[in-house]
Amino acid sequence: MSALALRPVSSSAVSAVSSPAAVGTAGPRTAAGSPYRFTTELSGKPLRWNPCLPIHWQFRAAGAPAGGRAAVTQAVARIAQASGTRWVFDGIVTSAPTSGWLPQTNDANRPVLIGWTDAAHSDLLRGRPASVIGMTRTAWFGLTTGTVTVASIQGAVIALNRAARLPATGPASWKTATLHELGHVMGLGHAGSSRELMYPVLQRSLNDLQPGDLRGLAKVGRPAGCISA
Ligand SMILES: [Zn+2]
Repeated sequence: MSALALRPVSSSAVSAVSSPAAVGTAGPRTAAGSPYRFTTELSGKPLRWNPCLPIHWQFRAAGAPAGGRAAVTQAVARIAQASGTRWVFDGIVTSAPTSGWLPQTNDANRPVLIGWTDAAHSDLLRGRPASVIGMTRTAWFGLTTGTVTVASIQGAVIALNRAARLPATGPASWKTATLHELGHVMGLGHAGSSRELMYPVLQRSLNDLQPGDLRGLAKVGRPAGCISA
């Protein structure tokens, strides 16, 4: 007889997008490099949501710029379409987007929280350079059996930096910044190519997800199949 080892696993990842104004100081621009990456891979597969369950989300209205809620709503609709997932709006909250929002256990479902805040009110922005316009933290849970881990992302929070000044929509806007952060929510890391929206510096030339972003999203979204644990 051999023992079956079941080990609960959980972790979180944090990623940022920088202001287009930081292009000159954030390192050389490059069009070469990988079109998409995943934040985390387990047993050779990207960590992702179960795309066959709806993803609930809430919005923090306080601190939002003019047009901010509409821009975020448009970004959510776009990520839903691009990943084949269904997003359900659960209403407005007053809580600032912080790590404390994230679920602490496997069964503690919490909607994804998106909103504007600042370094004084969110650990996600504390100590970050002023060029950072958005930060995302995800939480995931799973079980390891032998050498195979079955896990899924089960929570996320997006902190948008209200000290930053961007247009609500269009290129290098709150909409595209939120779309970038939603890419992290879905499990994408930073692309190596500046032609992709998942490049760590928001590009003024991009108004939407690009081909590499979409290929990455297909591998974490509904086209990759359900997760059954
Ligand atoms: Zn990022």
